[in-house]
Amino acid sequence: MVKLSFMGGTHQVGGNAILVNSNQGKLLLEYGVKPGTPPEFPGHIRAKDIDGIVIGHAHLDHSGGVPLFYLSEKKPYFATRTTSELIKILIKDMIKLNSYYLPFEYLELEKMQQQRNDLNYGQKVKLKDINFQLQDAGHIPGSAMVDMEINGKKILYTSDFNTTTTRICNNAKIPRKKYDAVIIESTYALHEHPERKQLEKDFVNEIKSTVNQGGKVLIPAFAVGRSHEMLSVLHAHKFDGYVLLDGMARAVNKIMLDYPESVKTPKTYANAVRNVHEIRGWRDRRQAVRKADVIVAPSGMLQGGTVMFYMEKLATNPQNSVYIVSFQVPGTNGAKLLETGMFPIKDRDTKVNAKVKHFDFSSHSGKTPLQKFLKGLKGKPDIYVVHGEEESCDFLAEWVRDELDLNGIAPNMGDEFTV
Ligand SMILES: [Zn+2]
Repeated sequence: MVKLSFMGGTHQVGGNAILVNSNQGKLLLEYGVKPGTPPEFPGHIRAKDIDGIVIGHAHLDHSGGVPLFYLSEKKPYFATRTTSELIKILIKDMIKLNSYYLPFEYLELEKMQQQRNDLNYGQKVKLKDINFQLQDAGHIPGSAMVDMEINGKKILYTSDFNTTTTRICNNAKIPRKKYDAVIIESTYALHEHPERKQLEKDFVNEIKSTVNQGGKVLIPAFAVGRSHEMLSVLHAHKFDGYVLLDGMARAVNKIMLDYPESVKTPKTYANAVRNVHEIRGWRDRRQAVRKADVIVAPSGMLQGGTVMFYMEKLATNPQNSVYIVSFQVPGTNGAKLLETGMFPIKDRDTKVNAKVKHFDFSSHSGKTPLQKFLKGLKGKPDIYVVHGEEESCDFLAEWVRDELDLNGIAPNMGDEFTV
């Protein structure tokens, strides 16, 4: 018998936490935060009550709360090497920005790193009676699904996954096993993404057109993966202008170059970033803004980071363009910019004269790919839908019941199920 306790990430995006309880062992699947000020934590789980933690990928909504388990205990955690390296950067930044609100400090992050177990995809682990391995989730560098086998029960946790191949990640494959239970994300259960090839073409054409007319292009992008995907797209389409990379994306770029397994084609990636200029400091930044044709800088939702400096320099000039390349959470500066064309510059709501456009690049499976993934599963697994807004979780669970005739459940916080 295996018990699943849903402690976070139910009917919401943020704060994923699922406790897998077997006869002997207790494995925690992620312990993320819901980003914000202050970051919100999932339901309380005592460190002494678990045997280990597995982290699908580095995003804070999957990893941000894990240092909490290192205040007094020493439990092992499992992730790919890339994920553990990325976690160091992301959690450190979260602590820097929120130290006043957080129950842990840099010391706990260090203690956590001492307990890391780096796994390759397909490497088998046994924790008491819980057997598991990681499979490529195609979401961001290092991302993984967790494939478990416990007392004869087969359980899959997708974490965040993408079945569409991108420039830097391989796509997640539909597993062939007969599962008893599948826990699946549903971020885009209600939304189709555009066809990738055409999207890339439109994006690069828009950039070339701005640059050819003497303008500059600012691309606000997430520091992990999206910034690097954009550099790879530019390279693949033979864009030869002056490209700048700034912010936390630089440290992530170093990890991607140092750990070849973190990208789909390491050589192509190294070529793609070879001529990209990395900003070294403030003097460099001020000079570089004059030289650059394209600037890629976090944060992706324009909520801070070096992109704020570039917005101040570039946003009021109608020759320039600001191309947003990810989903914008309602209420963020990025969402407001798309809706109203206004942006806070020096604390003042300012009209943005630069061309603003949204390109729907995504690292999650869209509506049809999610359904295809579920249709492709063998056997008669129970499907638990998490990591989506209220409507997305409920929609996908209902679709599973109606279309696949399987037990589709969108759990609520604190719900427990037996597999
Ligand atoms: Zn993610």
